[in-house]
Amino acid sequence: MSLIEFTDKGLFCPAGNFYIDPWKPVDKAIITHAHSDHARFGSKSYLCHHQSKPLLQLRLGDNNYESVEWNEPVYINNVRVSLHPAGHIIGSSQVRMEYQGEVWVFTGDYKTENDGLSGQLEVVPCHTFITESTFGLPIYNWKPQQEIFNTIQEWILNNHRQGKTSVLMAYSLGKAQRLLPCIAATGLPVFLHGAVHNVHQALVNAGWDLPVVERVTPDTSKEKMKGAVVIAPGSADGTPWIKRFSPYSVGVCSGWMQVRGNVRRRNADAGFILSDHADWNGLLQTIKATGAEKVFVTHGFQSALSRYLTEQGIEAKEVKTEYGDAEEEENNLVQTNEPLNNE
Ligand SMILES: [Zn+2]
Ligand SMILES: [Zn+2]
Repeated sequence: MSLIEFTDKGLFCPAGNFYIDPWKPVDKAIITHAHSDHARFGSKSYLCHHQSKPLLQLRLGDNNYESVEWNEPVYINNVRVSLHPAGHIIGSSQVRMEYQGEVWVFTGDYKTENDGLSGQLEVVPCHTFITESTFGLPIYNWKPQQEIFNTIQEWILNNHRQGKTSVLMAYSLGKAQRLLPCIAATGLPVFLHGAVHNVHQALVNAGWDLPVVERVTPDTSKEKMKGAVVIAPGSADGTPWIKRFSPYSVGVCSGWMQVRGNVRRRNADAGFILSDHADWNGLLQTIKATGAEKVFVTHGFQSALSRYLTEQGIEAKEVKTEYGDAEEEENNLVQTNEPLNNE
């Protein structure tokens, strides 16, 4: 029996009559995390982790939300459902489903390194594992977070010495919060683009103790921002909004920076290889550690990863979904519409 079917609305559990991260409106949706490709409008009810709820409220508005703690089982039509840390962003969870002795797990997006905010990825033993594959090629191989943070701090201090503002391009939900302690350690003031600040404020309102920041407004004095640090979404690059920081230097924080040409293509002064996803080895280690007999591979390099797993003797299939890379979407497709003269 298939606990999960891959339908044109999303991942569907027929025994429980619910969907996970559906891309079309459904009656009951379980949401792995608040990124836009996994959490969409229009469903009648949403089940998520406690920490995801304020983020879903921010992005989807008021809805019928139910939230649970990690490892707190709920029964949906006799399917035992529980959420487990995925380590991707705040609140991100894997979904474990158990029915008549059969266990399936869907990862949503995940990362193996504990970033200090998102929790430590839990390896959940299962018969069938549905994994993402965003960075599912052997070239993707991350360094420890602290090493990347050291490099970023050196870059910031060097810019500061030259009287330049450091503008860090980072995804507004996930990467931006992860960078705050790294930047705070330099002792320099931190300014946030409105899109990043909205997420920040929602988290502070939900009780998160995050470093002190200031929102960039038209009234923020140029003098104050000189030599300071700004976090902005990639879509702010090249806009009039960013020009006010002149002289400034742009650093892009993304797993995609592993590919050299991408730093140039993005017109960045620096690229920092910092990802909220598992790298190639992280994917392989996690998949093997679950002990799954069968693996379905979703969004990313699914054909490369599933072919490799098959060669390793693990039954693997690629699955077509409408999940993408929300970070790249934000960088390239979404205009920020950040007002220049009013808030
Ligand atoms: Zn995500
Ligand atoms: Zn994803």
